[in-house]
Amino acid sequence: KRGGSAGTRLFEPSMRNESQGHLELEADLRYALQRDELVVHYQPIVALRGGHLLGVEALIRWRHPQRGLLPADAFVPLAEELGLIGQFDAWVLQTAVRQLAGWPVDCALDRPLWLKVNVSAAHLKQVAAVTAPLSSSSLPAPWQVLIEITERVLTHPADTDAATLQTLRAAGVELVVDDFGIGASSLSSLHRFPLRMVKIDCSFVASLDQNRELVRTIGVIGRSLGLTVVAEGIEIEVQRAHLTQLGLTVGQGYLFARPLPAEQLGAHLHSTLKFP
Ligand code: C2E
Ligand code: MG
Ligand code: MG
Ligand code: MG
Repeated sequence: KRGGSAGTRLFEPSMRNESQGHLELEADLRYALQRDELVVHYQPIVALRGGHLLGVEALIRWRHPQRGLLPADAFVPLAEELGLIGQFDAWVLQTAVRQLAGWPVDCALDRPLWLKVNVSAAHLKQVAAVTAPLSSSSLPAPWQVLIEITERVLTHPADTDAATLQTLRAAGVELVVDDFGIGASSLSSLHRFPLRMVKIDCSFVASLDQNRELVRTIGVIGRSLGLTVVAEGIEIEVQRAHLTQLGLTVGQGYLFARPLPAEQLGAHLHSTLKFP
């Protein structure tokens, strides 16, 4: 089936293993939440010059009893397929709010710190219902909650009704378009939606030499719309320097920090990375 509806593929013995593995994973995933196997890691988001912390992105992980710690890429698509993702997203938010509320952050900080959570676009409404009361009551300053959704939200406006947006706005929760540039949306669709930020997909950062004009343009247009533009997937110093030259100011990636468990993030909240 994965090859699309038009083609047929002969069944081979190796595919039995593949699909059995998939079925096992599926059965396990249905119980992952109640078995307490899900965890949240946090990746710092930093200023490209200076390197100071601007916020964190919460990323779901699954501590699978046999397969070990699985990144989101390995099971989020399956969770979407199985209709589990709405529950997971709500759980990530609750967990992040609980963990962050316990972190001593200097409240004299002159800027808010972003807590970003990813929400599958089709579940924005469901997640908004739990986000709003949580973020307005349990997260002390300087934290501010932002929801990251993929470009799909720009091309399927029906997923995002006015009441949902109003609920979020009333709680001070803002929206971020994730993985911008790879989907079917256009730059002009950005202004039709109440957004705070746009994240340039890591594939453009990985091939910056071929995409420099595109990245520069997203930066210019994003800023002209009043959006913060974030570059994802920055792995090496050359990319950081290059993005800075193109006018970008905010980013995240392995160069600065990997996604970390809550216990290890604590140290990062106060340390300042030094970047020119
Ligand atoms: P995303 O939101 O675009 O997250 C960025 C992904 O890039 C993360 O993978 C992160 O670990 C990885 N990454 C960070 N820095 C670098 C880098 O320098 N180089 C490279 N190559 N990768 C980097 P992860 O955690 O596997 O997440 C994959 C996707 O799964 C996320 O993409 C997001 O769309 C989704 N996701 C993650 N957590 C959740 C969640 O709680 N709910 C929902 N609905 N989706 C989630
Ligand atoms: Mg994201
Ligand atoms: Mg992304
Ligand atoms: Mg992604």
